[in-house]
Amino acid sequence: MDKPAEYYSVRMRTTLEGKHISGQERIVKKEDLPKVILELHQRPKREWDFQTIKVEKLKEPPKIIEKSLPIKDYKFSCIPLVKNFIVGILESELGIKREIVKPLLEKLYKGINPQGGNLPGALLVDYKSGEILAEGIRTILFDWVDRERIEKHLLEKGYTERTLDALALATKNALCGVVAEICISDDPDYTVGYISSPRLGYIRISPIKDKNLPFGGRIYFVERKSLEKIIHCLRKKPILIKEAQI
Ligand code: AMP
Repeated sequence: MDKPAEYYSVRMRTTLEGKHISGQERIVKKEDLPKVILELHQRPKREWDFQTIKVEKLKEPPKIIEKSLPIKDYKFSCIPLVKNFIVGILESELGIKREIVKPLLEKLYKGINPQGGNLPGALLVDYKSGEILAEGIRTILFDWVDRERIEKHLLEKGYTERTLDALALATKNALCGVVAEICISDDPDYTVGYISSPRLGYIRISPIKDKNLPFGGRIYFVERKSLEKIIHCLRKKPILIKEAQI
């Protein structure tokens, strides 16, 4: 009998003077490692002075997920409307009170790190009480079964490579039990963001912020009693997604 395929996680992060420039992760079979390591090394388009590429053999094979969250596209004429939309939909559809969402959303626009600036990972918040349960948690170990095909399909539909990565990340979050997520990029040139949840799908919002704003971040609303399980899933459970639901 053939040996089951061995999978590896490859994660790249690149910075300039300590500031994030580029990051991406892949899950690949052993034979694809050299190609993917080179691809990730060459990925940052801007100047950088520090890069790490971590390669880790997975202890368990990735779980295959049939479909991503469905993508929906919402366009807005100004940021106050976006804020109303996010606060409104999270309250009416998911029961997350506006008194909880509003101040957190404002923080995302001003730098959510209590020490100032952005956080290197997500802020985990109890969706019922608004209590901050953990900060700087990163979702890792997610990718597409056939990344090239899905990327081509998304690009044809007018989406970007960022959508490819963010959709996979949001899909993993939903699977791990995150009730809802808000994401605003901290890239000053990138003004598209999203909210997502198993019930709402992946709602792409453009623009979610004004150009040149160097702040952003991710908030994961979770149920307090599931916190440990969710963090374990986000960090340890590898998944590969077959299809993007467009
Ligand atoms: P980006 O979309 O890459 O601009 O990231 C926006 C924000 O999301 C960053 O400032 C981080 O706070 C957070 N973030 C980035 N990558 C991850 C990740 N893998 N897991 C959780 N949060 C992340």
